[in-house]
Amino acid sequence: MTVHTDADRTATALDVLTRRIDRTRIAVEGPELDAVSAVWNGAVTHRPALVVRCATAADVRHAIRAARASGLPLSVRGGGHDWAGRAVRPGGLVIDLTRMRHVSVHDGVATVAGGATSSDVAEAADRHGLTAVTGTVGAVGMIGLTLGGGYGPLLGSRGLAADNLLAAEVVLADGRIVRAAQDGADPELLWALRGGGGNFGVVTSAEVALHPVAQVLAGSFTFPWDQAGQVLRGYGNLLDRAPDALGAMITLTPGPDGDPIIAVSPTWSGALRDGTAVLDGFARLGTPLTTIVKPMSPLAKLREFDGAFPDGARYEIRTRNVAALTDATVSALLGAFAARTAPGSFINIHHFHGAATRTAVASGAFGLRRDHFMVELIETGAPEESPLPSGWPRRAGAALAPHALPGGYPNLLGPDDVDQADAAYGPNSARLLAVKARLDPDGVFTATPLPRGPQHPGPARKARHDR
Ligand SMILES: Cc1cc2nc3c(=O)[nH]c(=O)nc-3n(C[C@H](O)[C@H](O)[C@H](O)COP(=O)(O)OP(=O)(O)OC[C@H]3O[C@@H](n4cnc5c(N)ncnc54)[C@H](O)[C@@H]3O)c2cc1C
Repeated sequence: MTVHTDADRTATALDVLTRRIDRTRIAVEGPELDAVSAVWNGAVTHRPALVVRCATAADVRHAIRAARASGLPLSVRGGGHDWAGRAVRPGGLVIDLTRMRHVSVHDGVATVAGGATSSDVAEAADRHGLTAVTGTVGAVGMIGLTLGGGYGPLLGSRGLAADNLLAAEVVLADGRIVRAAQDGADPELLWALRGGGGNFGVVTSAEVALHPVAQVLAGSFTFPWDQAGQVLRGYGNLLDRAPDALGAMITLTPGPDGDPIIAVSPTWSGALRDGTAVLDGFARLGTPLTTIVKPMSPLAKLREFDGAFPDGARYEIRTRNVAALTDATVSALLGAFAARTAPGSFINIHHFHGAATRTAVASGAFGLRRDHFMVELIETGAPEESPLPSGWPRRAGAALAPHALPGGYPNLLGPDDVDQADAAYGPNSARLLAVKARLDPDGVFTATPLPRGPQHPGPARKARHDR
């Protein structure tokens, strides 16, 4: 059948889909489509042609067939927290995994359905006295987080979320359902899933290592803005000697009254009696406005920031990695923050060290294994506020570029951050592109950006990660 128009393509997809999938699980137009295709970022306005609410790997396979038969662009929606809205493609077919959230735990391993959130996994682990390696916010999709890397408070002691991915069931572009595992049919696919994003297939189930961490010591210290430079520099010095059990994030942000503050959020995942002295060191970075240090479960820690990033507000994010908080980098960060245009905008800085750096760069597609700080430049505004994006995150990223390592955190790169994407996977680029060419030669899946390949040797590609 020859298809010509969007309506033809949608009709063809619907025809193929309804041979196997109940029509009530397919949204095609009107308020229902709007409701099921809305993602976390309210600035994402593009809408798909239809959404298929999948419940099994067989549904996913059928949805891929429908997209390919009709020519509709395909996307996969997990937790819906990708800031660029890549869970939805304009006029496309969305494989919605939000009905696939089951998590079971056996022998220290969680089996996680493709649409489970980080909270779903942490809750299931918590019932067994265990914890999962997640990011900092529970509502984020566990698989989306893991496929791109996954920076979180346990990074120093247990590595990235991607380092804890043991195996996955994946529906490929040709409809095959395969198991990616070290001892399985396709260990190279598992390698690509550890940091290469959702570019190779739909992960319908994943096995994730859990850890016996029942309690963490979580700190929160805020400092007045006039101490920001001193706090940032001292923070960098303190973390030079950071034990593996220390995870840390620092935020340049408006405080409760709108005036800027600097907030330090360390998490200690070792023996609690050893953590108090370590966390006290953060209080001595300046004269704190507030100091909180308390033991809590990793699940409670994960839930702490839920609500801080409301669904439907408008966001734009850019990212850079810096090797150290030198005087010049600190000045660039303070200058970047001062130049923000939307008052609610903020800068998060995650520390990458310890176990995550000792994992071999060849163990997965994630390409930057040296100590560094991952910087998130986040612009935010309520739906009724002045138009976003203002371009501040991009300008702030450009201002940081002279102080930054090549590349950037793939999960946060925009589709147009092509030079950064070229360098983001370091020495793993060619191997990653070979897996893509083998498993998805027609480019059915688009997700976080891949490098463009040897035909695009831009300046960033030649730069070294180890400078
Ligand atoms: C509020 C907030 C907090 C965050 N905190 C952190 C953090 O602490 N640490 C960190 O490292 N990152 C963090 N991130 C970034 C986050 O990890 C990425 O945006 C991630 O891609 C979101 O995954 P998702 O499933 O929620 O999003 P979606 O928009 O649903 O998906 C994101 C991408 O992953 C693909 N994908 C999702 N599920 C699957 C699947 N099952 N199979 C195949 N492809 C799939 C999608 O196709 C899409 O390309 C945060 C983001 C937000 C918005």
